[in-house]
Order: sequence, then structure tokens, then C-alpha cells
Amino acid sequence: MSAFAEAQTCRRQVLLNYFGEYREQPCGNCDICLDPPKHFDATQEAQKALSCVYRVNQSFGISYVVEVLRGMSNIRIREHGHDKLTTYGIGRDHSTITG
Ligand SMILES: [Zn+2]
Repeated sequence: MSAFAEAQTCRRQVLLNYFGEYREQPCGNCDICLDPPKHFDATQEAQKALSCVYRVNQSFGISYVVEVLRGMSNIRIREHGHDKLTTYGIGRDHSTITG
């Protein structure tokens, strides 16, 4: 169900495929066909994020990693000295909210 909801391809193709039918052409009428998801090359962002996860010793959750990447100034980050990391603030050009 979540795969269907998060599908990046035609909904009808996904459904038909699930029930064992193969259809080569997208339907042209579902929300994905009418408004295809936008894609971008996130290689650098992924490298920055993974680098930051590594530098905080893989000991913190994603919210904290995002705070470090965005260069937030709070007690927790300062107490851990993570404001001194090379990855501190390298993602400040991105918002916290995705999508
Ligand atoms: Zn479609």
C-alpha cells in the first residue's frame, strides 16, 4: 500500500502490475501522469548528510543531524562541540521541511 502511495510511475501501471497484468503505456490520466514528481540530483546533499552522520559518530537521530547541517545554534550542539565540525552549517541553504 505504501509502495502504491509513494509510486513515482503511473498508478494504473502499478495496480495492473500488482495484479499480474503488464501495460507498457502510462494511462495519461492519473495524478502521476498529469503531474509527474519533480526530480533533482541529490548526490551532494546525500554526501553532506552521510558525512555529518559519520562525524557525530552515528550516535544521533536525523533531527539532530539536520540541525547540525543547517548550522543551528543550541545548547546540545554546542555541548557536543558539533558546531566545530566541518559539516556544521553546510546545509543551511536548505529548509528543514522536505517536499
Ligand atoms: Zn497514469
